[in-house]
Amino acid sequence: MLGSGSAGNVTLLQGLDQPVLIDVGLSYREVARRLDTVGVSPDSVGAVVITHAHGDHTRSAALFSRRHDVPVYATAATRAILESARTAANVASWGQLACDTTSEICGFRFTPFEVSHDAAAETVAFVIETPDGTVGFATDIGVVTPVLRTRFRDCRMLVIESNHADDLLQVGPYARSTKDRISGARGHLSNESLAQFIRADLGDSVRCVVLAHLSRVNNVPEIAEMTCREALEASGRHEVQVIVSRQDRVATTVDLGVWASQRGHGTVGRQVALPF
Ligand SMILES: [Zn+2]
Ligand SMILES: [Zn+2]
Repeated sequence: MLGSGSAGNVTLLQGLDQPVLIDVGLSYREVARRLDTVGVSPDSVGAVVITHAHGDHTRSAALFSRRHDVPVYATAATRAILESARTAANVASWGQLACDTTSEICGFRFTPFEVSHDAAAETVAFVIETPDGTVGFATDIGVVTPVLRTRFRDCRMLVIESNHADDLLQVGPYARSTKDRISGARGHLSNESLAQFIRADLGDSVRCVVLAHLSRVNNVPEIAEMTCREALEASGRHEVQVIVSRQDRVATTVDLGVWASQRGHGTVGRQVALPF
């Protein structure tokens, strides 16, 4: 996770083929800088995949696409929104995503499905099949839907939103209408709602949970992590690793191959701190 939160989301997926970016919601300069810290050239990126048409997920997608001649994959409805935005009008090329249809992108098999969020067009989460196991990816979701519950059951790793602590949101500085939007069914998932999902529905094959899209105003990374860990321990799932993604720095890298080759023990990773 090169960056995650309401000020910009970018995730790097590396496999045997060219790397893929999921969302390009930071400035172009910042994306290039963070790719550099993990030793990836922007020129090597093979595709950009977009979850939904909110600026914190699309900010420099078109510019990145043009500069590096990279296709942008989006659903037809999200593409229409992006094409109507002046700054995002010109991408190098478009790739087509359709809900519940699998697309092969740079050696990964992406299956998007609709989630509950308030973008103008549909918001999608992904099940991403890799040679080392399946990743469930859902960064902006108001609630955990039955479809998400089913699709995420057989994943090895989940990237899932842990946006706010319910009590911090309620006592925080946002206007009532904004609080209602965030906590609503088409807003953002709370630490507590994620914990409930973990206690009730976490699949046996999950080895790692990456907490995404944390609010800098209504959450604290340590609280989000503790809430998730408590839910895991209450379910007897001590073996599951928890990683907290951050807005201002690149998160610990997760290597899915470790679980594929060692049957569920250990991870490799590194933390890269960026000067801000
Ligand atoms: Zn977002
Ligand atoms: Zn959003």
